[in-house]
Amino acid sequence: MPGARGRTGVLRTPHGEIRTPAFIPVGTKATVKAVLPETMKEIGGQALLANAYHLYLQPGSDIVDEAGGLSTFMNWPGPTFTDSGGFQVMSLGVGFKKVLSMESVGVRNDDVIAKGKERLAKVDDDGVTFKSHLDGSKHRFTPEISMQIQHRLGADIIFAFDELTTLLNTREYQESSLQRTHEWAVRCVAEHERLTAERTHRPYQALFGVIQGAQYEDLRRQACRGLESIVGPGGSGFDGYGIGGALEKQNLGTIVGWCSDELPDHKPRHLLGISEPDDLFTAVANGADTFDCVNPSRVARNAAIYTPDGRFNINVSRFRRDFTPIDDKCDCYTCAHYTRAYIHHLFKAKEMLASTLCTIHNERFTIRLVDQIRDSIDGGYFDELERETLARFY
Ligand SMILES: [Zn+2]
Repeated sequence: MPGARGRTGVLRTPHGEIRTPAFIPVGTKATVKAVLPETMKEIGGQALLANAYHLYLQPGSDIVDEAGGLSTFMNWPGPTFTDSGGFQVMSLGVGFKKVLSMESVGVRNDDVIAKGKERLAKVDDDGVTFKSHLDGSKHRFTPEISMQIQHRLGADIIFAFDELTTLLNTREYQESSLQRTHEWAVRCVAEHERLTAERTHRPYQALFGVIQGAQYEDLRRQACRGLESIVGPGGSGFDGYGIGGALEKQNLGTIVGWCSDELPDHKPRHLLGISEPDDLFTAVANGADTFDCVNPSRVARNAAIYTPDGRFNINVSRFRRDFTPIDDKCDCYTCAHYTRAYIHHLFKAKEMLASTLCTIHNERFTIRLVDQIRDSIDGGYFDELERETLARFY
């Protein structure tokens, strides 16, 4: 039955609670681009996710540590996540996205790279060597280094360092990669324990293991069981799990479902990198609790707007004299105070406020949708909400 694995809950962190399912907006470099943290709070953001790779390169995790950790540094009093940097490091230059369409999946090849791109990262059994996208300087991440960086950044929820594969890798490569990710996970737990014991002046950080295994059921299930069995020298294990890796849109629910079957019910499950309305329903229905995605803000800066009737582009000329809000039913600040004509004008004039107003609206749209999904599970009308929402949106 669809929705059978859907669940609600509360995630408790040193910086506050997250009611799940929850959408976690992305502030890659410790800022949701163009929007104040206070505004993110007002639109219902419960937590923010920043990126360890970007903050390591700039300003440097030592500086965030000296500032008192990510939350203090960026003036966001609520819970924070950092991802391990693995995805950014390993997808550097190759030009692949997390959710792939069928058309982009062709021949199996272990050195896949998008046309016109140059690979900037090299994986070995101990870690990854990569070149900075900022200045080409050479760097190395290992599981231990990723843990040290994420402890200095100080987010409430951090992720184990994993190897990212694509759907184009061969089955043999997926198997060896999964083994490597498992060994890295063991090292992450041990280093996390060591750092937690050493840094008693900082609040506890929860460590999530990352499940890879691409589109293979046996590998995904094996990855879940493997991560669950890891116990560090001090007796601790993972506090939760992230479902990682590239996914074909049509397999998203199936893959999340396999993981939910295997993982313990009392630990949270984060799905990395989704925000499209149909993906959100599918993920929740199959047992995911939290999701992050950069898309609502990224597309907003390119004038793409989410509404209950679908996505449209505010840049086109038919909005020049449209003096209505983006969505007259929306409760966001942008829709309460501004017209489509004005926002259209801001984009045409290349004014910064255009990005701010559209990001506020798109983030509010996504957060509200997941809040509605949460209410629908408690109220027992998940299937109806899914049917109505998706029929209108698509
Ligand atoms: Zn709005």
